[in-house]
Amino acid sequence: MEVKNNILETIGNTPLVELHKVVKGMPCRVLMKVETFNPGHSIKDRMALKMVDDAEADGRLRPGGTIIECTSGNTGMGLALAACVRGYRCIFTTSDKQSKEKLDILRAMGAEVIVCPTNVSAEDPRSYYSVAERLSKEIPNSFWFNQYDNLSNRKAHYESTGPEIWRQTDGQVTHIVVGVGTGGTISGTGKYLKEQNPAVQAWGIDTYGSVFKKYKETGEFDEKEIYPYITEGIGEDILPKNVDFDVIDHFEKVTDKDGAVMARRLAREEGLLLGYSAGSAVAGLLQLKDKLKSDDLVVVVIHDHGSRYIGKVYNDDWMRERGFLDAELKVRDLISAK
Ligand code: PMP
Repeated sequence: MEVKNNILETIGNTPLVELHKVVKGMPCRVLMKVETFNPGHSIKDRMALKMVDDAEADGRLRPGGTIIECTSGNTGMGLALAACVRGYRCIFTTSDKQSKEKLDILRAMGAEVIVCPTNVSAEDPRSYYSVAERLSKEIPNSFWFNQYDNLSNRKAHYESTGPEIWRQTDGQVTHIVVGVGTGGTISGTGKYLKEQNPAVQAWGIDTYGSVFKKYKETGEFDEKEIYPYITEGIGEDILPKNVDFDVIDHFEKVTDKDGAVMARRLAREEGLLLGYSAGSAVAGLLQLKDKLKSDDLVVVVIHDHGSRYIGKVYNDDWMRERGFLDAELKVRDLISAK
């Protein structure tokens, strides 16, 4: 019989799917690593399981313990899956800009969710980082995973996402394009691929309102770069230890509007109902079109499923209120005029 022992064994080995319509005019083929096929519908299942395995192995997580994490939802989902199977309690802190769907899903998996304000600095005692840290000190037999600085995060991608892409492309991948939040996905995947072929380029997708691009280009942590934005899961106001700036060759910033419009195009034109940051990743790639040649092979690693954004990016009123719907209609006119 072909039976998995538990749901955690279904993590990874996600398909690569070629894009056609939204990449018309690109000089080369573009493939998507569709991480929505993971059981928690996001790539974060990989690093969540790795963080739990590593914490169990060195005794930071003990039987009956409590998992604490600050998460925008996807890491929480992966941790909740592991917690259900292995018998841990979960407490997640998150920020108040996250989709309601994401928080409801975490609660459905038995986790406790504490919503913290978005527009306070990371050091503020009300921030979702600070609250997670405090709870981990107060609750006995608890462990704060801290996905930003916990290097099991990028190791998960070094051990699984990178090797899968290398194998699935027969070693022909030349570029990866990846949204950057904690930095784990691009740093681990990119390191593995560059070890196989040093010419592989890793392009990180950043947001306006985030510090990454300026830091990479100047070495300066410029607080003026930090301001609120809408895109979820990418861009930061801190420099997480998981971001390996030596692995990332270039950061490309994408506007909230362009990411949202592209997410909707991926759903309607390619049948790929994906998260907001997947739209940002493909929009960022299109901005970089002139850097590519015909024999390049791009893999865009996407993070999560569109079901988490039904009330936002996939809702016309939400788009209209932000002035994004007019932009979408203009793009549609342009496409139909071609
Ligand atoms: N997109 C989404 C929706 C995410 O939740 C995350 C994780 N913060 C990312 C992109 C970025 O991934 P990473 O943290 O591995 O850089």
